[in-house]
Amino acid sequence: MQLSHHYASELTDTVSLVRPQPLSDISLRMTNHALVQQYQLPDAWFSHQGIIEQLFNEQGMLAQHAVAQKYGGHQFGQWNPYLGDGRGLLLGEITDPNGNQMDLHLKGAGQTPYSRHADGRAVLRSTLREYIGSEALHHLGIPSSRSLCLFSSSERVYRELPEPGAMMIRMAPSHLRFGHFEYYFHSKAFDTLDKLMDFTLTRHFPDCAAHAEPHKALLKAITLRTARMVALWQVHGFVHGVMNTDNMSIHGITFDYGPYAFMEQFKSDAVFNHSDHEGRYAFDRQPGIALWNLNALAYAFSRYISVDDIKACLTQFEPAFLAVYRETMLARIGLDNDKEHEPCLNMWLAMLGQNPIDYTQSFRWLAEADPTQSVSSLRDHFIDRNSFDGWWQDYRQRRLSAAHTPDSLLASNPLVVARTQSLQRAIEAAEQDDYSVAEQLLLALNTPYQATDASAPFEQPGNSDDTVSLSCSS
Ligand code: AMP
Ligand code: MG
Repeated sequence: MQLSHHYASELTDTVSLVRPQPLSDISLRMTNHALVQQYQLPDAWFSHQGIIEQLFNEQGMLAQHAVAQKYGGHQFGQWNPYLGDGRGLLLGEITDPNGNQMDLHLKGAGQTPYSRHADGRAVLRSTLREYIGSEALHHLGIPSSRSLCLFSSSERVYRELPEPGAMMIRMAPSHLRFGHFEYYFHSKAFDTLDKLMDFTLTRHFPDCAAHAEPHKALLKAITLRTARMVALWQVHGFVHGVMNTDNMSIHGITFDYGPYAFMEQFKSDAVFNHSDHEGRYAFDRQPGIALWNLNALAYAFSRYISVDDIKACLTQFEPAFLAVYRETMLARIGLDNDKEHEPCLNMWLAMLGQNPIDYTQSFRWLAEADPTQSVSSLRDHFIDRNSFDGWWQDYRQRRLSAAHTPDSLLASNPLVVARTQSLQRAIEAAEQDDYSVAEQLLLALNTPYQATDASAPFEQPGNSDDTVSLSCSS
């Protein structure tokens, strides 16, 4: 393993050197051994005190060049230039044996110049939600940042109530957000913006760098990747919750997990973030907001390419989104990727919206249903059985002539997702020092399409009377 510091050393104008600050009784509680292996990280780090020394000791390898990055962002539609890593630090970049580069980023490491009077800390509740959520999305096939390890502490952190503090190290190809480019554009720091663009092209988008019009190629690549990510969110009923432009990665990976949720009852305008009073980041607004965010990012590109070129890039969002959405959704219900099947899919979603039936489970049941039967037992889950029967007759004919096999259908429909209630069980146990529920949930989410011993306790929907309030406070 090689640890480099390209961002910190090449973009010195955009960072502040900050040493990670430990919490009291800090202890390593969870480690992603698959990532440790893949990136050939030193085993010694993940034994007992190893990584804690690397992070917090005077000579610690991960402490020497840790930096907080400066960025801005549109938060709920309003420009905010005062953002930056207020509690996260970029520790450096590592490279796997195939040359894939990943940032190591420590979250909850104490105050930085961008903390704006906040404490620089993260609570165990939100840290564990991010740790499990990012792995869950990755294993579903949705691009995401990854979780490397999690630390607990006996120190209390004050939110609405005192809560145990925690930290995690996450990995991502970079921590470049839309808000980085917006910030240096709006603050007219054009030399820095030029350097940031060059760095992004050379280090992260070499194919675009080699293009005759590199900036246009870059904006197009970000647009297409973002469209794909959001399409997959819609397919799996994932609601990010805080799609501010400072939480949008230029790599089109799900990033900065906050009050996210997987929908249970299908509700197209579902909102889980209790601070989102206007429903700006509701489930069905995510694609439109992603495009809005790309538009905000595109201002920074106006220094390099014409308005017509910008429009040409952004207009590719919708077809790219629809192509991924249509193909993946039709595969979930076992139909070929053909526009003529869309009305059948839309009718299925409309029926889900009208019945108290779990989103993830209903697709799994449909995958297991036998299309040779003229009457399906699935009808019992629907209040209006006649309309279900009518839909079933049309659907089963389409499915009988489709190329999908029963196995391919099961491989498109997860049995387990990171349900809010499952996460809550893991959090409550971890707050009592028991990480076994979190470990078992992670194990189930590692193979979300397969029934395993680990998956059984997490397959059922939560009890809707037992709702968890998801706040932005983390
Ligand atoms: P978030 O809502 O987590 O995406 O954070 C928005 C901004 O607030 C970012 O600039 C964060 O670094 C900063 N921030 C959030 N929580 C804290 C905290 N507890 N201490 C310092 N900065 C924070
Ligand atoms: Mg954020």
